[in-house]
Amino acid sequence: MTSYPYLIVGGGMTADAAVRGIRELDDTRPIGLIGAETDAPYARPPLSKGLWKGEPLEGIWRGTGQAGALLHLGRRVTAIDLAARTVLDDHGHRYGFEKLLLATGGRPRRLPFGGDDVLYFRTLEDYRRLRTLADRGARFAVIGGGFIGSEIAAALASQNRSVTMLFPEEGIGSRVFPADLARFLAGYFEEKGVEVLARRKVTNLVVKGLDYEVHADGESPREVDAVVAGLGIVPETELAAAAGLEVDDGIVVDERLRTSHPLVFAAGDVARFPAPTLGSRIRVEHEDNAVSMGRAAGRAMAGDDSPYTHLPFFYSDLFDLGYEAVGELDPRGEVVADWKVPFREGVVYYLSAGRVRGVLLWNTWGQVDAARALIAEPGPVRPSELVGRLPA
Ligand code: NAD
Repeated sequence: MTSYPYLIVGGGMTADAAVRGIRELDDTRPIGLIGAETDAPYARPPLSKGLWKGEPLEGIWRGTGQAGALLHLGRRVTAIDLAARTVLDDHGHRYGFEKLLLATGGRPRRLPFGGDDVLYFRTLEDYRRLRTLADRGARFAVIGGGFIGSEIAAALASQNRSVTMLFPEEGIGSRVFPADLARFLAGYFEEKGVEVLARRKVTNLVVKGLDYEVHADGESPREVDAVVAGLGIVPETELAAAAGLEVDDGIVVDERLRTSHPLVFAAGDVARFPAPTLGSRIRVEHEDNAVSMGRAAGRAMAGDDSPYTHLPFFYSDLFDLGYEAVGELDPRGEVVADWKVPFREGVVYYLSAGRVRGVLLWNTWGQVDAARALIAEPGPVRPSELVGRLPA
């Protein structure tokens, strides 16, 4: 058995940030990291963004080993024994810990058909596979109109590949954007050469020699060379639940990122944490959240007692449109759009119970902190007061 004062389960950006957080306060005691992927921790955003715009692959490595962790890669933790303070991996190896961090992230949601013929895009290995497919194939189906679907469709189109997007909603990014903006985006992708089939449920995938036929409601089958999907993720909570930790669509943590067991912490995509600015517990699946919460969890493991209060932001680039956003973007509630140029430049405010809960900064830069301050205001705020509130 190998024993560590600090043991991290997970090999993503959260885990890497936690190593750095620990090292800010403790530069000597060993840190162990167990990751299911065979790749060492890397930056995930470039997989659907920069690597398709010529950024070098070498730039993605986080250097987690050099930062001070001993990496156990290609190993999946299968059980946690809280009483014995050990975890077991799928090679039968046991590791002891004094403090444990669960940074297990999430796994892609899958369709009930298609098996491994569908590329559920999430990891570096998925990127390598898609690169190979893009180098030899011409026609792609992209299923899902969320973050992965939109970024991967734009990436493939930028490589002059033929792309058909299929998703059940009205427009692109319907989960976070107001309906008119999501519909505009669908039209904008079409202008960029992507075939957009909105309001379509994919019903089957048929293998035809080396090709695939994608079947969708109300459509004639589309023949493509490869099928990529981004249907959201399911947080990897099973380990925590089996160990008796509190789980509620994510591992529940307190403001010091502790789970219901005082020696076990959780952070990143998998953690449901209290967001004091919003007055509720949230779970966030974006880079800033992974990096900020990972670092804070590392510091907490090493003895920092300050609460985690950061409200994370997220961002994306779609062809030549880009945005940053902070807080909760729920378009089903009240929305105030303040466009300088409709759908090209402006600010969208998301309200609930007289308070601003989220802000979308569309081609509007340098306003994330001002947006956070607005979300922190107790209100009540009248929608008319928001027009011009943050400069576009
Ligand atoms: P998502 O939640 O953004 O989008 C899921 C999409 O799946 C929905 O919009 C819907 O169109 C589609 N969908 C669901 N069921 C479907 C079905 N049966 N058939 C067809 N479409 C269906 O999730 P994602 O795009 O898979 O992204 C995965 C995770 O990675 C998310 O947590 C996301 O936040 C994160 N991510 C973030 C960024 C960013 O911050 N820029 C970029 C990439 C990924």
